[in-house]
Amino acid sequence: MEKKNIDWANLGFGYITTENRFVANYDGKAWDEGKITTDSNVVISECAGVLQYAQTCFEGMKAYTTEDGRVVTFRPDLNAQRMEDSCKRLEMPVFPQDKFVEAVVETVKANLEYVPPYGSGATLYIRPYMFASSPVIGVKPADQYQFRIFVTPVGPYFKGGVKPLTIRTCDFDRAAPHGTGHIKAGLNYAMSLHAIVDAHNNGFDENMYLDPATRTKVEETGGANFIFVTKDNKVVTPKSSSILPSITRRSLMTVAKDYLGLEVEEREVLLSEVKDFAECGLCGTAAVISPVGKIVTKDGEICLPSGMEKMGPITQKLYDTLTGIQMGRIEAPEGWIKEIK
Ligand SMILES: *Cc1c(COP(=O)(O)O)cnc(C)c1O
Repeated sequence: MEKKNIDWANLGFGYITTENRFVANYDGKAWDEGKITTDSNVVISECAGVLQYAQTCFEGMKAYTTEDGRVVTFRPDLNAQRMEDSCKRLEMPVFPQDKFVEAVVETVKANLEYVPPYGSGATLYIRPYMFASSPVIGVKPADQYQFRIFVTPVGPYFKGGVKPLTIRTCDFDRAAPHGTGHIKAGLNYAMSLHAIVDAHNNGFDENMYLDPATRTKVEETGGANFIFVTKDNKVVTPKSSSILPSITRRSLMTVAKDYLGLEVEEREVLLSEVKDFAECGLCGTAAVISPVGKIVTKDGEICLPSGMEKMGPITQKLYDTLTGIQMGRIEAPEGWIKEIK
């Protein structure tokens, strides 16, 4: 199979239409079989639940070409589980987890020409999502839903080398206690846009959100979880019921413990202790880990000892090990790699 003629190394993180996508419909009682289609447009009622009351959720994952030329995805069962959790919280019908994984495989298989080659640094981003497609005007869950998956090739995240980020603590809140912070709902992103635009306008790469109740504890950014490394090489990640459970972060904690032999802790992290950490990184599917060099708070700047030039040493090891697992250079824990081809 011929790869598309794309300048993989210079791709950005943007949407490029590919030939094929998956679509399934829920008619109010059951999901249909679903199928691959070439139609990239969605036609729905002007009064669809997604348009009026934002009844929609999504997932984000990637397919990789391994060193030995296989095409794989990483822990798609966890995306399936998380999408089920999102659907239940939003009163949407669950797309069965085994069918979700099958549909991901089918969609990638239908777009193999777009899976970037090994070594290019690029990957195939996979976007499963669901939305309420039938009309609602009184506030209630819609009757009908559509589940779709499209894929789009994305470029290397760290083009021209890693640049540690400068972030700020944010005056806006991301997720209320007992709210929807722990699910991947579009609504969490809609209301974060003002905060990120404002951060960018003020010269910051990202927002560090604090717990809304006390504004003393670290939660996460708009789209990535935090990990910290202590001066004695312990890997610490904040614990809170309003953090989105990042699959990358959970995997990195396992890598830290089982591959690097480091102590790991998931616990509440006070903003006041961040100044004592040696390294800080943001974890998510897009970048795996982006190092943070500086955090600007109301009480002054925190400059991480790892600096503004490169990743800290533990962050680098975590990054190298997890990307090694994803690209098939390092043996994966049982069940982490789903082979597509
Ligand atoms: C998707 C997401 C992440 C990262 O999760 P991964 O599964 O690692 O991609 C982190 N935080 C938020 C708010 C997210 O929506």
